Amino acid sequence: MIPAASFAGKRVSLFGLGGSGIATARALIEGGADVLAWDDNPDSVAKAAATGIATADLRGADWAKFSAFVLSPGVPLTHPKPHWTVELARGAGVEVIGDIELFCRERTLGAPTAPFVGITGTNGKSTTTALTAHILQASGRDTQMGGNIGRAVMTLDPPKPDRHYVVECSSYQIDLAPSINPTAGILLNLTPDHLDRHGTMQHYASIKERLVAGSETAIIGIDDSWCAQIAERLERAGRQVIRISKRLPLTDGYFADGTNLMEAVHGRYSRVAFLDGIGSLRGQHNAQNALAAVAACLRVGLDLGEIQSGLESFPGLAHRMEQVGRKDHVLFVNDSKATNADAAAPALSSFNRIYWIAGGLPKEGGIEPLRGFFPRIAKAYLIGEAAPAFSATLGEAVPYEISGTLAAAVEHAAQDAAKDDSGEAVVLLSPACASFDQFKNFEVRGEAFRQAASAIDGVKPIGGAR
Ligand code: ADP
Repeated sequence: MIPAASFAGKRVSLFGLGGSGIATARALIEGGADVLAWDDNPDSVAKAAATGIATADLRGADWAKFSAFVLSPGVPLTHPKPHWTVELARGAGVEVIGDIELFCRERTLGAPTAPFVGITGTNGKSTTTALTAHILQASGRDTQMGGNIGRAVMTLDPPKPDRHYVVECSSYQIDLAPSINPTAGILLNLTPDHLDRHGTMQHYASIKERLVAGSETAIIGIDDSWCAQIAERLERAGRQVIRISKRLPLTDGYFADGTNLMEAVHGRYSRVAFLDGIGSLRGQHNAQNALAAVAACLRVGLDLGEIQSGLESFPGLAHRMEQVGRKDHVLFVNDSKATNADAAAPALSSFNRIYWIAGGLPKEGGIEPLRGFFPRIAKAYLIGEAAPAFSATLGEAVPYEISGTLAAAVEHAAQDAAKDDSGEAVVLLSPACASFDQFKNFEVRGEAFRQAASAIDGVKPIGGAR
């Protein structure tokens, strides 16, 4: 745990007592703060109280006495409208911050040179965070990974100069971290997402920009126009910017040329790493993630040998184009995290002979945006409530069956793929749908796929991501 010493002897209010809220309250108490916490959910309040955290309805609190108000990133700060606690804090002139801000202050106080890689973007955050942390750890560096990826940042080990932090930051967390100051900040990409919580794309982009604007070195994926503009703006302001592109040769920066990761210095190119044969990093989207990780690792002092070896041993993340098994030429890939058409696109673009398991609880727009990938699909196996709508979209373009359940789909897809004699065939679960009609969540759906694939005679598991 990182004791939040910056608030020693001060009164701090806190709202949101989920796992990270409780961890943050504990870190504040450990650092010597006097914490008063609350949540709209009585069960969460009771749980926190049972661990010795002082709780009270903050409507009745004396806000003038608080030095800061710590808000859980799940609670609206601005949109659709500020939470009532935010109104109270603002009314009393109390700063509103989150756990990443507390972490930044502790690092700045305790070990300002401790390497800190902060990662954001619309897509690929977790993969890039896990990959960067993996490369650092595999090289023998003392590495701590946390933030949006799962482990609350204040539960990490306390900063010291040679300890490396890799922190995934959602836009909500950045919005609550005004002094965020990574050594290397990564902004991967920007496409419309969560606009219900951010109002406009402009506002969403401006929040993400803060992470790289606060960084000593800003690493920015310039394949979309929002990020390209941010890179230009920061460079004009005199900041150190490293551009990355998954598709364009750059004059300066890092770009992907097929599976080769290239460095460009004033138009001269050299290969810095390669992804050929690395199953966990297939696809152009992963080239973007890997370029960012490579640039960040170079920035914090790793050499190319250490980086290549870390890339090669990266196990990947579960449920994201995760290779779970193989039988001869048939590869089984679990992409259960792809809960809409946009998220399914990277997997469909990464393989050529696809036995595609899709469906579940349909999202608006269905699979029409994936039409360009239909020629890669040998056959589709439709499950869940979306099956009738998806079959209508596939029409004559793609052979399909309505399998109904995931178990039936895996069995039939495996049988058909086994008969395919045109090279590698992939049984791919990339459902382009939410899971809730048949499963508790996408993780449970992905596990069911893994089990169904492993139960097929002769399928050998591919280890790693769990
Ligand atoms: P996040 O943490 O931002 O949600 P993940 O790393 O968990 O991202 O990846 C989630 C899904 O997003 C992946 O299964 C893949 O389909 C897609 N994805 C991953 N990286 C990228 C990227 N760089 N660009 C576009 N899509 C991506």
